[in-house]
Amino acid sequence: MPAASGEGQTRAALLIVDDEESVRQRLQAIFEEAGYQVFTVADAPSALRVLHKERCDLVLLDVEMPDVSGLALCRLLRAQAGTRQLPLVVLSAADDEGRKVEAFAAGADDYIVKPSTPRELLSRVSARLEAAERTRALVGSNRELMFLADLGRSLLRALEPEQIVRRVAGATYEGTEAVLCAVAVNPRGIGGAICVFDREGSAEDESHLFIERLEAWLAAPDSTLSIFLDEREKFFLRDEKHAVEYLAPLCFGGRAQGALIVGFDRAEDCTESVRRLVDAAAQQTALAAHISLLYDEARDASISYATEEQRRFTEAIVDTLPVSLYAVDRDFRIVAWNRNRELGGQGIPRGDALGRNIFEVLTRQRRDVLEAEFRRAFETGEIERIEQETTQDNGASQHWLISKIPMRNEAGEVTHVITLGEEITDRVEANRAIGRAEKLAAVGRLAAGVVHEINNPLATIAACAEALESRVAEGAFGASPDVEDLQEYLGLIRDEAFRCKTITNGLLDFSRTRAWQQMPVNLSDVINSAARLLSHQRRGEEVEIRVEADKSLALVSGDEGQLQQAVIALSTNAIDAMPEGGRLTLRTRNENEHVLIEVADTGVGIAPENLTRIFDPFFTTKEVGHGTGLGLAVCYGIVTEHGGRLDVQSTVGVGTTFTISLPATPRPPTD
Ligand code: ADP
Ligand code: MG
Repeated sequence: MPAASGEGQTRAALLIVDDEESVRQRLQAIFEEAGYQVFTVADAPSALRVLHKERCDLVLLDVEMPDVSGLALCRLLRAQAGTRQLPLVVLSAADDEGRKVEAFAAGADDYIVKPSTPRELLSRVSARLEAAERTRALVGSNRELMFLADLGRSLLRALEPEQIVRRVAGATYEGTEAVLCAVAVNPRGIGGAICVFDREGSAEDESHLFIERLEAWLAAPDSTLSIFLDEREKFFLRDEKHAVEYLAPLCFGGRAQGALIVGFDRAEDCTESVRRLVDAAAQQTALAAHISLLYDEARDASISYATEEQRRFTEAIVDTLPVSLYAVDRDFRIVAWNRNRELGGQGIPRGDALGRNIFEVLTRQRRDVLEAEFRRAFETGEIERIEQETTQDNGASQHWLISKIPMRNEAGEVTHVITLGEEITDRVEANRAIGRAEKLAAVGRLAAGVVHEINNPLATIAACAEALESRVAEGAFGASPDVEDLQEYLGLIRDEAFRCKTITNGLLDFSRTRAWQQMPVNLSDVINSAARLLSHQRRGEEVEIRVEADKSLALVSGDEGQLQQAVIALSTNAIDAMPEGGRLTLRTRNENEHVLIEVADTGVGIAPENLTRIFDPFFTTKEVGHGTGLGLAVCYGIVTEHGGRLDVQSTVGVGTTFTISLPATPRPPTD
């Protein structure tokens, strides 16, 4: 605020205090002439009154005044906060050193000896005003610096947009003469925040702002420049009282993303330095808001990275489990489907299952049965286990243990049901094998006892029948039609007795703890000799017998005779299964440390429901007198005693293949 007035600048105001009317008039004329605004008073009390009411930039006062002297007024003004900085220039008629020292001690800034020339007066007053302006500017920038430093420090610890807007609005309200102060970052947007400080307190919503107007302004191309407003209809702050507004945009990411808006009651409170301050505060706010945004993005990214990692890990666990697994929600929609559920004959790709209705996907299972299982699990919340048997395309059956496991949320409600499928074919077959072995052993013990008791009377019956027959032949009973009958009956008795003998011998065979010799056996030799024996039998003339013997077959260790008996039992069954003729193939081959014999026919096949029973002793589908039901039981016993396996695959109407698998003896190293 320089001494002289210029266009558009506020004129400096002087207060002249002198008890002499003529002096006052002269001084007033000089300063008014130079463009100052001048107030004049005659005494100290009037001076204090004017200073209380008017803005004065400098006081020019006479030392020699009645009542309160000029120096007393100096001391008074220096003592009051409002006038402590006010430049005071003393006028005195006395030109002595003592007076001058006294005046400076009282707080005067300058001392002018009367009478003085207008030039001197003007230049000294102007110098004082400039000095005061410099001091004011220094104090101001010091305050600005402190304000900005404080704001910067408090923003350093603010990471949430809400904290930032509150701290800036509060600090700007305190640090300026503003009556209203608003900060809006990304108003109405994601991560947006608003805070308004006014006479009544603070608010954190848009109610104190013309928010549409602000949004329109932020979207405008020149929104990166600060603006000063003194037209009420353009204001952004909703308030009846304030007179002017200053808005500084919050620019980051290349555009204005919010604003710091301050409202003042008087236009002169919005000084150049206040505007600079608001601009600087806006820059700091923008920086803090930008950092907060980046921090947010980084945090979101790291959270979503962590959740994605976690999801993939869980999926990997579920995929690694050696079970097939899927889960459905209460609408029977598939929400999980693991890798094992994709594999195998009943496997379905995950992409074809996820999100779909379970009944649309598992079309091979009966819907009513499946739905009842799920409903039970949802309603009772209890784990249910079901055993299931499926038949593969090649006729072999697979056994599954299916568990329906209800899954609860935190409130304890069943929200999903997990279905686990475990293949337990090996376990089931092992159990069956044990059961079969036990049954065989029991039957064997029984048979051994019974056979001994029956064999002797049978032998007697047969021997008596034969003896009588020869007596008849010798004519001991003469020759009459009755004797012919006798001969026929005796023949029957003998035949039936022999048939019983075959049965009992078979039983004995079966029950005998076979004493067997352990020898290296070539199974190709076994099938070749079995085929020779079979072709000598009269049965199955329509059957073509084919041998496919592997010449480089590994040896097995065992009893050649028993193994041949097993092959013959299988082959006999095969021939029986081809009453209309067909082909019997005996094949040997090496497979993974094992040697395999396959006995394959093109016969009637075995019904699936019989597959588990054929190895049972006495199980036969043949007519009475044609089968004992012991062939496979014996065969099974021989193979297991050799440490091997007997498997069957069959398709009704196509044929049956029995496979004997025996462990190969390791070959001696060839040098
Ligand atoms: P048996 O031959 O005296 O009936 P087995 O124990 O040898 O007794 O056979 C049991 C049953 O298994 C037979 O009755 C038959 O139903 C069935 N079977 C065995 N082998 C075959 C085959 N190759 N083809 C069809 N059915 C077979
Ligand atoms: Mg048989």
